[in-house]
Formats: sequence, C-alpha cells, structure tokens
Amino acid sequence: MKALLIIDVQNDFLPPNGTLAVPHGDEIVHPILELIHDEKQDWHRVVMTRDWHPKNHISFAKRHNQEPYSKITYKSPKPGDKTTQEGVLWPVHCIQNTRGSQLADPLLKETYKNHYKIVDKGFLSDREYYSAFHDIWNFHKTELHEYLQKHHITEVYIVGLALDYCVKETAISAAKLGYKTTILKDYTKPVNSDDESMMKLKEEFNSYNIKLD
Ligand SMILES: [Zn+2]
Repeated sequence: MKALLIIDVQNDFLPPNGTLAVPHGDEIVHPILELIHDEKQDWHRVVMTRDWHPKNHISFAKRHNQEPYSKITYKSPKPGDKTTQEGVLWPVHCIQNTRGSQLADPLLKETYKNHYKIVDKGFLSDREYYSAFHDIWNFHKTELHEYLQKHHITEVYIVGLALDYCVKETAISAAKLGYKTTILKDYTKPVNSDDESMMKLKEEFNSYNIKLD
C-alpha cells in the first residue's frame, strides 16, 4: 500500500512572505494538489505534516540572542546524556495556530473537503526536529510511523519542503524503518541548490536506498 507524505508545505516556508521561505517553494503547491488527485497513483493514504513550534522553540535564533543561520551545538534533552549535535538557528517560524504555520491555502482548502491525516512535529520546545517521524535525537516519536503501520503502508512517496532538510530526514527515517522510499523530485525544492550540495544529497539518498524519481 502506498502513502503520499507531503512535508511542511506551510506559509512560513513559502515565498514571498514566509519567514523561512524556501526558494521557489511556492511553485510546488499546485503540482502537489494535482498529484493528490492523480488517479493513476492510487494513494491509499495522504499525510500532510506541519512544523508546529511553541513560541520559544530551541531552534529560534532569538531565544539564544543569536543571528538567524548561526551555528549551535545542541545538548541532548535526556538528563545525564552527554551527547551533542551541531545545528543551525533559524528565524522564528511556524508558531502553532498562526498564519505562518498554516498549510498553504490550496492544501488547507483540500483538508476541508477530504480527511487527510495531519501529523505535527516540533512541538516540544527543548529539541529540534527535521524528520516527520521523530526529533533529531530519535527520542520523541511523532504519530507518523504508527499511523502508516495501522493502514498497512509499505511504500512512501515524499514531497514538500525542504528537500535538503525535512524531506531528506523524513526519507532517511522512512528507509531505516523499512519503507520502500521514493522522493518525487518535481514536487520538492531545496534550500541549497548548488551542484556540490545536490551531488552530496544524491550520494546520501543512494546510500540509504532512497529513490529520487
Ligand atoms: Zn522548525
């Protein structure tokens, strides 16, 4: 059974007004809408994910009195765990229940007509999330895996924003969890689109057996 996972197509990630706009991100909204309704695809389930942050989320530069896009070393949120991870601080984005965190209007309207599953991530303030399956530490799991299992999904097709962050990490999680994983490249946009970044990305996808179609 096949599921379409639409990652973080939310106003704050879309030009021209999003606070963390992905270049050309707005150009994939209508194609995604068509993909949802493409009868040849026969999606068993369609899932839309949202980055869904409290006001003081740890990934916001403001919280650390830093400039957006500066680096940070995150400490594990687990007491006694000395593990760290390198990260990037972002402008404030996708605050829960604001215009910025809303799905792009055409997708939002779609959710009024049909019952698509919405999965939120990023709502614990003390940790960063990229994958729609879990936080960057793989401690807190979202409901995504359980939902897909419940509906006997074995294959996932991933689209949305951004290719080199949340789409990538969601695809890696899915592949590790045993799903046959494909990223549909015409329905996603990267933050960094230079040749070197794209080549690295493709190598990474290959190493996890993720198809870029
Ligand atoms: Zn975020």
